[in-house]
Amino acid sequence: MAALPRSVEIREVGPRDGFQNEPEIIATADKVALIDRLARTGVKRIEVTSFVRPDVIAQLADAREVLAAIDVPEGVARSVLIPNERGLDRALEQRDRFDEIGVFLSASETHNRRNVNRSVGESLAGLDAVIARAREAGLRVEAVISTSFGCPYEGVVERGRVLDIARHLANAGAAEIGFGDTTGMANPRQVTEHFEEAAAALGDHVQLTAHFHNTRGQGLANVLAALQAGCASYESSFGELGGCPVPPGATGNIASEDLVSMLHEMGIATGIDLAALLGAARAARDVLGRPLGSHTLVAGPVRWEPAG
Ligand code: MG
Repeated sequence: MAALPRSVEIREVGPRDGFQNEPEIIATADKVALIDRLARTGVKRIEVTSFVRPDVIAQLADAREVLAAIDVPEGVARSVLIPNERGLDRALEQRDRFDEIGVFLSASETHNRRNVNRSVGESLAGLDAVIARAREAGLRVEAVISTSFGCPYEGVVERGRVLDIARHLANAGAAEIGFGDTTGMANPRQVTEHFEEAAAALGDHVQLTAHFHNTRGQGLANVLAALQAGCASYESSFGELGGCPVPPGATGNIASEDLVSMLHEMGIATGIDLAALLGAARAARDVLGRPLGSHTLVAGPVRWEPAG
């Protein structure tokens, strides 16, 4: 096995990517309590909400209220997802309440059109403006490229195309590029090749982040493959919260506690207290009142001392 990173960074995306894609609308007070709890697990980056149009995504219509109410310790970065310049305008009204933004587009034309009703070229032009204005406001920018490993409508997405988009976004000022496996089409061999090529093309200039979905149960296998290519930044969701509308009923993000458990067992540091993270996932399960997809939430952490 190649030398693996000794430590990795994890961005917890459950409060945005998870809450947005669960069927229920979670009460603002419950969201705030869960975010405050996550912020005390040792995780250093949390995607807390999104400034998408409230009439389109009712689950996150309380972005202002959530930002105003959360109590996140110093040193934990609060990230918000920004769909376009209108969203940035709304977010900047509360500029002092977050630290980073995330922006997104899809690598495939069809997925981008279905998701944001724009061509990829139109999205890139819009993001150029968003990124420039965010940087003027002193915000760090992550740009996530959805369908980086395959598209449910178009099938193959050429890696050269994905890396061209990544280079464009890096040149526009994104400090971090996230590669999203939006509908769980990636396999480990593809992932290792992808991150090796991405590091060669971009690695010195930007942080490269893996955003895997567990749609077909391959999320953690893909993490190992990315680790082997040197990737040291991951996004995941506590409780495995968050589905994906394509295919209908499919799961989404990998569970943060499954990711942290695997990394710690491998001797790779995350800075996260697994027991505290499991407590947060348990609290989310109690709020939703049903079983969640996370494995470690069910099984508990690995114990190496003899029982009894
Ligand atoms: Mg996701």
